[in-house]
Amino acid sequence: MKVPLLDLVAQYESIREETLQAVESVFRRQQFVLGPEVGELEKQVARISNVAHGVGVASGSDALLLALMALDVGPGDEIITSPYTFFATAGSIARLHAKPVFVDIDPKTYNIDPALIEKAITKRSKVILPVHLFGQCAEMDRILEIGQKHQLAVIEDAAQAIGATYKGRAAGSMGLLGCLSFFPSKNLGGAGDGGMVLTSNAELAEKIRVLRVHGSKPKYVHKLLGLNSRLDTLQAAVLLVKLRYLSSWSERRRQNALYYSQRFAGSSKVTPPTILPHNQSIFNQYVIRVSERDKLIEHLKKNEIGSEIYYPIPLHLQECFQYLGYKKGDFPEAERAANDTLALPTYPELTEAQREHVAATVLSFLGK
Ligand SMILES: *Cc1c(COP(=O)(O)O)cnc(C)c1O
Repeated sequence: MKVPLLDLVAQYESIREETLQAVESVFRRQQFVLGPEVGELEKQVARISNVAHGVGVASGSDALLLALMALDVGPGDEIITSPYTFFATAGSIARLHAKPVFVDIDPKTYNIDPALIEKAITKRSKVILPVHLFGQCAEMDRILEIGQKHQLAVIEDAAQAIGATYKGRAAGSMGLLGCLSFFPSKNLGGAGDGGMVLTSNAELAEKIRVLRVHGSKPKYVHKLLGLNSRLDTLQAAVLLVKLRYLSSWSERRRQNALYYSQRFAGSSKVTPPTILPHNQSIFNQYVIRVSERDKLIEHLKKNEIGSEIYYPIPLHLQECFQYLGYKKGDFPEAERAANDTLALPTYPELTEAQREHVAATVLSFLGK
């Protein structure tokens, strides 16, 4: 039985007619840049995320870049973030010639450890940028409290967490700004790249709207240096269709996760994800910790089961960040997670037989 890590073909089959109709209507109008679907998606995503404004941009990476630009982040500024995340979190900081300052993660949740943040604060600190990894929110109360105490803005990297909640509050709504990605593998994924910045601050929302059109306002007048970063109308049209299913898809992911965790509960050799009681995860990834991780991957591959390492190299050890001066051993929990964690298929279309096959294959390997 084949089980891919993610099955977007199966998802497309379930929404084919609606998607094609939505795409057709964009083609009929030929308004490919900032057409009405973009504004409609912004409204709907802002509503489910409980913020006043959503600004559609070209990618999740650009959402981070524009959020930082909106706060005038630049050379000399230090941005505190996690070393255990997708590259873009730190890449967007470095793009602006600001300095990513890494803080190790909590080994249970894989999110930034709030107890270590204050030690990393200096006079040059400007922003705390927590990541809601794998669909579970970081410890926002502690982070917001530290931000307030030291007058640092908080930007949430909620690229993997649309619809997740922390103490009932929506991912992306708790910081000054929140960043979403519509990369195809996210819970709400487009037919290509896309992203959105969330905020309840009207001034910042307007600034990002201007920045995404080269800083132009009115047309051909540039007070700000922006870039070209709009969410395509076509993407917005596809995303509007998928948004109708987002909560049921995320619920199915949660059910798959619960099933795995119950199956793995009896094994001392696999550590299922820890979801803190005040969190509701959307399980963008279901990540386990195992010894002999690489052998397990081989075993799964032989049995036609997809899996993936998120992420094999923590950011402080990436060659492009060598100039920051970090070395192996600086963030032991991030390094340990990179060595012994593995994501299993948890996508909504997974059948009961498929998920049992995954669980049984993992357990039979570890039993040996
Ligand atoms: C996907 C992702 C991004 C970047 O999103 P893109 O849309 O691929 O540019 C940023 N941060 C995290 C944590 C992500 O998972």
